[in-house]
Amino acid sequence: MNQVATELVAELRNLLDPAAVLDAAETATRPAGIWRGDALQAAALVRPRSTEEVAAVLRWCQQNAVTVVPQGGLTGLVHGADAGPDQVILSLERMRTIEDINPQQRTATVQAGVVLQALQEAAETQKLMFPLDLGARGSATLGGAAATNAGGNRVIRYGMMRDMVLGLEVVLADGTVVSALNPLLKNNTGYDLKQLFIGSEGTLGVITRLVLRLREQPLTHSMAFVAIDSFAQVSQFLRHMDRNLGGTLSAFEVMWRDFYALVTSPPAAGKPPIPQDYLFYVLVESQGADPELDPARFERCLASAWEAGLLADAVLAKSEADCQAFWALRDDVGQVLNGGAPIIFDISLPIGEMEQYTQALAASLNAKLEQHRLWIFGHLGDGNLHLSVQVPLADYERLRPVVEQAVYQPLAPFRGSVSAEHGIGLEKKPYLGISRSETELALMHTLKQALDPGGILNPGKVLS
Ligand code: ZN
Repeated sequence: MNQVATELVAELRNLLDPAAVLDAAETATRPAGIWRGDALQAAALVRPRSTEEVAAVLRWCQQNAVTVVPQGGLTGLVHGADAGPDQVILSLERMRTIEDINPQQRTATVQAGVVLQALQEAAETQKLMFPLDLGARGSATLGGAAATNAGGNRVIRYGMMRDMVLGLEVVLADGTVVSALNPLLKNNTGYDLKQLFIGSEGTLGVITRLVLRLREQPLTHSMAFVAIDSFAQVSQFLRHMDRNLGGTLSAFEVMWRDFYALVTSPPAAGKPPIPQDYLFYVLVESQGADPELDPARFERCLASAWEAGLLADAVLAKSEADCQAFWALRDDVGQVLNGGAPIIFDISLPIGEMEQYTQALAASLNAKLEQHRLWIFGHLGDGNLHLSVQVPLADYERLRPVVEQAVYQPLAPFRGSVSAEHGIGLEKKPYLGISRSETELALMHTLKQALDPGGILNPGKVLS
């Protein structure tokens, strides 16, 4: 370890307790992400126990021109929490207290290091629900979910993380604590400062505590898996279900045929609930509160969709085990790793543009690449598609920019989004200009300059 790093670790240990600070070697014993094989690297990893300690660390780092990378559960997909050997990692892993669940106000007040699943379970004990849900629920932290504005499977009903945050406490780059722990649903008093930090990926401040909106826990759960022969019918089926389910539609997940075949054929564990030869498959879910009426209404909606000729085939979940099996197919995205290197995308575009876009993309990849596979699935109800393009491992580095261009450039004419929910991090920074205008980017730089003039917070992420 060089002398600068040794002094840095000693000073930070002085500032907090010695056990709160890991040096470079100790940091390197940890993986860089839950889906990554490489090790974390940093000059030090600091684990404050309180907002005051976070403030002390940031104040010290600003004064000493040391850059800081805030980290949550390391479940991100865009290299938004990558750190380098001269940087300090700020982990909120010792700030894991659920401070309050208020069933009357239907709010939770939590420290930023609380794991998503822990809040989901705590809310359930009060017959409430925290509706953000995603595959990494057991690792993702609420501070990280807010900093990256996480999405997931039920955005169609409850929105993204942005829509679930009522108040935040944030520490600015100079150590100033901005406490905006608003518990009110309606509070129209000037600039909505919390929204500035939500989705800013740790570049404007470090979120330390949150007030989150809880919802009533649904009491019924109906699901079906259907096959559809044309994209136009998929979009008609979405409107049909949303209109007739009276506000209880909670998920509408679509899989293109190749992805469905992938997750229902060996080596995948999933079995096909419907034959594999239709063009589109939809997992549709409704959550309600009336055990007498809800399942019957859901079946009626499906029956009327069938009578209207929208469906080619359909299976209704008969049990919770069926529901879990349907979700397991949708969530078995790890299958894209078999047999090559996947390049994954989470784009957003108007539903009216999707069919043409996906067909043009397939044609352009066929023209540009010899050996590859394309899988498409996603949260169609939110206009969000996940694309996975698999190329031979040996060609990955060379082909990656070719594939990125093929995916992103056609989004430009209608201002599609290069990131619906994963964020920008380092990975999508070169393509931010496809989704954001010059004036929007200039305003982002102005905000960054105003809040972090020394550029110590997660430098190089989102903006250069
Ligand atoms: Zn997703």
